[in-house]
Amino acid sequence: MAYHSAKKLDDLRFKDDGLSTLTSEEQEKVEQLVGRNYTAYFRVKNLDPEVPLFRQKHVHYLKRGLHHLSEAYECLDASRPWLCYWILHGLELLNESISPEEISRTADFLRRCQYPSGGFSGGPQQVPHLAPTYAAVCALCILGTKEAYDIIDRPKLKSFLLSRRTAEGAFTMHRDGEVDIRGAYCAVVAAYLTNIVTPDLFEGTAEWITKCQSYEGGFSGEPGLEAHGGYTFCGYAALVLLGKQDLIDNKRLLHWVASRQMRLEGGFQGRTNKLVDGCYSFWQGGIFPLLHTVLGATTDGNSLSNEKWMFDQVALQDYLLMNCQLHHGGLVDKPGKSRDFYHTCYCLSGLSVAQHFVNKNQSNLTIVGGQENHLAPIHPVFNIGVHCASQALAYFRKQPLL
Ligand SMILES: [Zn+2]
Repeated sequence: MAYHSAKKLDDLRFKDDGLSTLTSEEQEKVEQLVGRNYTAYFRVKNLDPEVPLFRQKHVHYLKRGLHHLSEAYECLDASRPWLCYWILHGLELLNESISPEEISRTADFLRRCQYPSGGFSGGPQQVPHLAPTYAAVCALCILGTKEAYDIIDRPKLKSFLLSRRTAEGAFTMHRDGEVDIRGAYCAVVAAYLTNIVTPDLFEGTAEWITKCQSYEGGFSGEPGLEAHGGYTFCGYAALVLLGKQDLIDNKRLLHWVASRQMRLEGGFQGRTNKLVDGCYSFWQGGIFPLLHTVLGATTDGNSLSNEKWMFDQVALQDYLLMNCQLHHGGLVDKPGKSRDFYHTCYCLSGLSVAQHFVNKNQSNLTIVGGQENHLAPIHPVFNIGVHCASQALAYFRKQPLL
């Protein structure tokens, strides 16, 4: 079953062709660390390691974060709705519920992050910003109560989104802030989830996003820059929601994203010539379900698999389970790094993508380590649980059109 037991690690190593650089040396160091972990697992567990997900430890780590954060999180004072989202989404992936009191308390905190004139801020009394707006809307949808949904002031959210639009259809993250492809994604998701989309809101947005596809095939933060995993997921997911995915070169995107899975590590890098990082398990891995659907609808779509995504799902799970889990809970970028809620959320999101194959004809599970490791499936565009997404969409569909 395991990818790494089937191949000799030495055959998978990076080859510098006799030209050592800082980049190649860093890559070799990571391969040594990761290779050592794989070898240790094979030694103990023979050739097919059934590696467990430390579910209860991760639950404990996430739940504690919902009540108390250490001083290390002070630097994220302007990202507090993100902390709610990372923790709540991690818990829903682990199929762990929270109490009605915790739901109310978290919803009430997010209410205090809503800006009086619309949109959400990084914390109470801060300026509204598109990134925490995405995080707060998603977190409230995960909470999933009427109380949580009704916190979102839809007319004001819409006027906040309109105020962030440029004439071209791009979005600035906040007042006088930078134009960025993440802004477009955050705006599109917040608007679709809460059913406030009207043609004027996203006129020209898809065309602007299209300009961010680089010669490599991935997307950059704004036109003319380097392709990057996070920006690529944001741009592509926004295009899919807008129904404009055919404006870009999908095959070039497939070539770029498939080439980002690391041969020895099994995880993904964020950019060409960079190191593996657990969070890209989602930012890159999450692109495959979208691409599969888009390419499946084309004339040569019949040649696509009905059982697997177009990356090695087992190799990615090997990387996450054997290299990114801490025994005391939480997941990390790569061995030797410290845990945080961001990496825990996106490592688990990527693990969920690697476990579930779903297309219109077929659904398939590929679970390294057995059924015990099974995570909840995610909505491929919003990155919240499928169930929460459909409940929220149904609720907001019944609200008055703006
Ligand atoms: Zn990362």
